[in-house]
Amino acid sequence: MSRVSAHLSLTLLAGLCAGVALSSHAATSDQRPDTGGGAFTFGAGVLDDASEIAVLHPRIVREAAGLGVPVAVATPDLVAESAGLFQYPVRMSKTSAGVNGEFVSNHVDHDPGAGLEDFACGTRTYNGHNGLDLVLFPYRWDMMDRREVAVVAAMGGTVVRTRDGEYDRNCATGNADANYVILRHDNGLLGYYWHLKKGSVASLSPGDSVVTGQFLGHIGSSGSSTAPHLHFELRDANLEVIDPWKGACNPVASAWTHQPPTVDTAVLRVASHDRQPPAPSSGCDDPEPGYANRFERGGDLWAAVYLRDQTSSDTAQLKVLRPDGSIAAQWTTGAPPTGTLPVSFWWGKYSLPGDAPKGRWTIVATLDGSDYAHRFVVGKPFKRTKIAARVTSKKHRRVKPGKAARFFARIDNTGKKTAIGCRASAGRPVDGTFRFRAVDRKTRKPVQKAGDPLKIAAGKSGYLRLTVKTAGSFKAARADIAVHFDCTNSKAASYDAARTVIRLTSK
Ligand SMILES: [Zn+2]
Repeated sequence: MSRVSAHLSLTLLAGLCAGVALSSHAATSDQRPDTGGGAFTFGAGVLDDASEIAVLHPRIVREAAGLGVPVAVATPDLVAESAGLFQYPVRMSKTSAGVNGEFVSNHVDHDPGAGLEDFACGTRTYNGHNGLDLVLFPYRWDMMDRREVAVVAAMGGTVVRTRDGEYDRNCATGNADANYVILRHDNGLLGYYWHLKKGSVASLSPGDSVVTGQFLGHIGSSGSSTAPHLHFELRDANLEVIDPWKGACNPVASAWTHQPPTVDTAVLRVASHDRQPPAPSSGCDDPEPGYANRFERGGDLWAAVYLRDQTSSDTAQLKVLRPDGSIAAQWTTGAPPTGTLPVSFWWGKYSLPGDAPKGRWTIVATLDGSDYAHRFVVGKPFKRTKIAARVTSKKHRRVKPGKAARFFARIDNTGKKTAIGCRASAGRPVDGTFRFRAVDRKTRKPVQKAGDPLKIAAGKSGYLRLTVKTAGSFKAARADIAVHFDCTNSKAASYDAARTVIRLTSK
């Protein structure tokens, strides 16, 4: 079969299993990269059983009253007044090498019977579920071990109770105890933050005050849980469940400061692997992901992109670029024929020629017009360095829906080695797109393509323009985006409430 006909027949297969692989360089013309991927399945799916909360609830209500912060009753007035008060309860931490870190597996079930009905009249829930489940992806146990996603207070309030020390690698529902934080938020509602990682729960005592966005712990799988996730549940004094999401089947004002899109298509990670990205064989553990950022000439690498909420129109383009920017391989991912894949992964294998140029190579995933890049090295080993980062412009912008807001930021290489593959991403969902672009320090004019990672010499700084293009549906009392700055050979910059958070308010 000629290369052309192979290309055409693969194109006709475009579905869950086949992507199209091409190589455009003489040295690789004999290669026909394998591609694959599809839905990333979790065995029985990600479920929990937080019925423990309902059992505990009367005691928590009494304890809150004893602390002088009685729990409120969710009257229509209180629900109305709660509009725009709750921040999304997670953010990425400095150990994450991802672009985003989690997806929604379950919402509150609004159907009182056996049926399923989430706030948007969809079925992203399970029967009787009373909270929001935010699940790590991909390789969730690995992400949990690395503490990649932090759980934060959705709203300021008073600590009623915390628990830590419970086993956190549960992969089935049952009656095991969870690690948790329970807050009586400032509007009177109780917030239950469940299934936290063992040893990660913040040192907080009953009666302590917390502010919105304050660190509470890391996502884990303690208690009755089948996989590492946060179960976030809001209750009033009478055990009524409050669902912060506004939708056709929950027609209240959204309680989120900024409600993410219901179908929130996004790249979660672009990665290079030294083996075929493994699919999980069971819900209880991950195979070793085989992330690798350095390769030898003649070695095999697998370039992969991990997506959430991929719909039939969301094919991504993947490219492997040589150090000079020329294309070594490129292909298009598959997409679900219909519906939405909550999580999916797509990979292609590329065998580095024996004469492959040494230096910094790039994997670029393009989704909906935005590039997401990841750098790796061929040949020369790189040493790790350290970075710090801050937003240097005004951090607060008012923006009309559909319009863009711009910010400027810098990444400081505080270590002793050159930082490569430095970039920025929105560490929390936003109804719109987030892009970065390297700019000149003084003129603030672009010096690279949007999404092209920065190289920063030791002791020097890289300058970035951050652009949030809001969707037409964008609405925010205050969308606080914890910007995640990272480089291939460093940990991400530390989160800093005063320096790395940008705020958008809708006009
Ligand atoms: Zn749950």
